[in-house]
Amino acid sequence: MTRRNRGILIVVSGFSGAGKGTIVKELMKRHPDRYALSISATTRSPRQGETDGVEYFFKSREEFLAMIRDEALVEYAEYVGNFYGTPRAYVEEQLAAGRDVILEIEIQGALKIKKRFPDTLLLFVTPPSAEELKRRLVGRGTEPMEVIESRLARAIQEADGIEEYDYLIVNDVLEECVREVHGILSQEHLRVSRNLEAIEEMRGELRHFAKCREGKGD
Ligand code: 5GP
Repeated sequence: MTRRNRGILIVVSGFSGAGKGTIVKELMKRHPDRYALSISATTRSPRQGETDGVEYFFKSREEFLAMIRDEALVEYAEYVGNFYGTPRAYVEEQLAAGRDVILEIEIQGALKIKKRFPDTLLLFVTPPSAEELKRRLVGRGTEPMEVIESRLARAIQEADGIEEYDYLIVNDVLEECVREVHGILSQEHLRVSRNLEAIEEMRGELRHFAKCREGKGD
């Protein structure tokens, strides 16, 4: 049974500032053949240093609405005044190629994905404490204080939904965290329910051996 099964759809959510982006980037760097990161479309303006097609596909509201209309998104949600959505084509292509596709999305989108694709694996990333979360958001210096406040307020809502996730990843030491996530995802591939085709194939081969033996009369 050497055949690798279809890729797993993985959702990584977490409070803004929890460090999920850093974890995902590290995973991609260490295992580029194994994981594919979906790039979302958004109506939010690029932050300093962000490039169209790298962090996001930056869209106008009209362009985004057209993507919804054309069913070009597997999910979308509104977050602190902007739209964010996952383009469909890339996700489908990469899963079929056997790569695990990572969606770094917020909780409303995560729940939509889970409903639509029930075998999605959901990871929730949190910093060790609320205090640390605020410290990281302020320290990153990319948003004005009022945006930080609304992101912290949003964290309260997001915290309510954590029970819907499969794993809680506490991002204290990055190195450990990345190893932990890679371990979880590797284990997930071994689940019987994700290997049904390979199991069926093995059964077929075993039946074939039995038939050959009968044919030889032993
Ligand atoms: P940011 O503005 O900090 O880049 O992202 C804000 C939030 O939107 C983050 O929680 C991020 O994970 C989420 N997000 C990014 N892309 C998507 C997407 O395609 N769909 C959904 N539902 N959320 C997204």
